[in-house]
Amino acid sequence: MDYQLTEDQRTIIELAREIAQKKIVKVREEYDEKEKFPWDIVEEIRKADLFGVYLPEEYGGTGGGNLELGLVVEELSRACGGISLCVATSALCAFPILIFGNEAQKKKWLTDLASGKRLGAFTITEPEAGSDATSTKTTARLEGNHYVIDGTKNFCSSGEAAQIYTLFASTNPRRGPRGISAFVVEKGTPGFSFGKKEKKMGIRANSTYELIFHNCKVPKENLLGQEGAGLLVAQGTFDYSRPGVASQALGIAQGALDETLSYIRIRKQFNQTIISFQAIQHMMADCATQIEAARALLYSVCRAMDRQLHAAVQESAKNKKTVHETLRAMGASRWTKESAMVKLFCSDMAMRVTTDCVQMCGGIGFMRDFPVEKYMRDAKITQIYEGTNQIQRNEIAMMLIKELAQQGRRAAAAA
Ligand SMILES: Cc1cc2nc3c(=O)[nH]c(=O)nc-3n(C[C@H](O)[C@H](O)[C@H](O)COP(=O)(O)OP(=O)(O)OC[C@H]3O[C@@H](n4cnc5c(N)ncnc54)[C@H](O)[C@@H]3O)c2cc1C
Repeated sequence: MDYQLTEDQRTIIELAREIAQKKIVKVREEYDEKEKFPWDIVEEIRKADLFGVYLPEEYGGTGGGNLELGLVVEELSRACGGISLCVATSALCAFPILIFGNEAQKKKWLTDLASGKRLGAFTITEPEAGSDATSTKTTARLEGNHYVIDGTKNFCSSGEAAQIYTLFASTNPRRGPRGISAFVVEKGTPGFSFGKKEKKMGIRANSTYELIFHNCKVPKENLLGQEGAGLLVAQGTFDYSRPGVASQALGIAQGALDETLSYIRIRKQFNQTIISFQAIQHMMADCATQIEAARALLYSVCRAMDRQLHAAVQESAKNKKTVHETLRAMGASRWTKESAMVKLFCSDMAMRVTTDCVQMCGGIGFMRDFPVEKYMRDAKITQIYEGTNQIQRNEIAMMLIKELAQQGRRAAAAA
């Protein structure tokens, strides 16, 4: 389908596709088997200037938005959903800085994230705070010019590889959810160390680590937004970052179907190619239709978000307010419902499509030296992280209920 992409967007796809096909395909199996972080591919992505496609030019980016970021993640994930994750986690680290950070913070951290000189990560999950971030136990107490952070975070993607981390900790445990605040912590800060490296089902080329903070002193200036506004920062981030998970899921599904089609047009049984059986053709048709429906939804949501965010970024450069404050002043809509919808739709689609791809390939589809089973393993995480799909459904339903209540109030006022 023709999505009316611009010249720049088509160039981004070409650059990412070249890395995917020429560099990633030949190493993905090894990186998955050895659970090795893909530093040589990181270098290729840096050289192609693809880490900062969604960031404003004043912070070293190339001025695109979520659609451009999604195109990079989709193309790289088409080859390997584990290797592509280093781009998405850097963006997940960058969004709270871009949206809630002041000018000095944006200048300090976004430039390196845009060039890929330093990778980013985002850490909110804890052993007792998964879906329920309000249970955050990590604390940050203000002592003079520093916050002192104590606690343990887990399941941090790009952990250890990243150098800039956005982190959530309680500055006032008595205030519960309203006591959580957001910070930036740099690798190498005394008191910040890495614990267990997780062994995983999928996305094994990305490192998932436990992070340990013991008397870790970070400068007061590393607080993002207001004290106590951490959950607002987290939700405001997910509103913009969940399409990145959706892009990863979309690329994984497309890659699995590409590999499957190349195989079933050659493989013969009963003196016919597998692709000539109608039962298989119907599965192929369903997979292709679901992929295209997911892409159409994702691109249109990204475009709508990008229009609003670009306007707010430009305005905030003039009014010296944060992007978040500017969005509020503009009366901008939140993207909670739409970003949950694309994440939910694309990841459920990817799980169905990759499972069907294994089925279409038969026994070889189940084997680790054939690429299709890895797509199915990699797809699974997209239904779990940045909020499980149960949580996405909760959020969508909550937004629908809110909208109904607003409509009711408007109707009552008009009556
Ligand atoms: C490979 C990997 C990488 C990750 N990367 C990161 C990262 O970079 N940064 C980070 O901060 N976190 C990361 N995570 C954490 C991830 O976001 C959490 O695992 C996820 O949010 C779910 O939390 P949990 O694992 O504690 O599951 P739980 O919250 O214990 O949930 C268990 C089950 O209960 C369901 N459930 C829970 N609450 C509800 C509810 N209210 N209604 C209905 N069902 C519910 C869930 O959907 C799930 O099915 C990563 C996780 C993995 C596995």
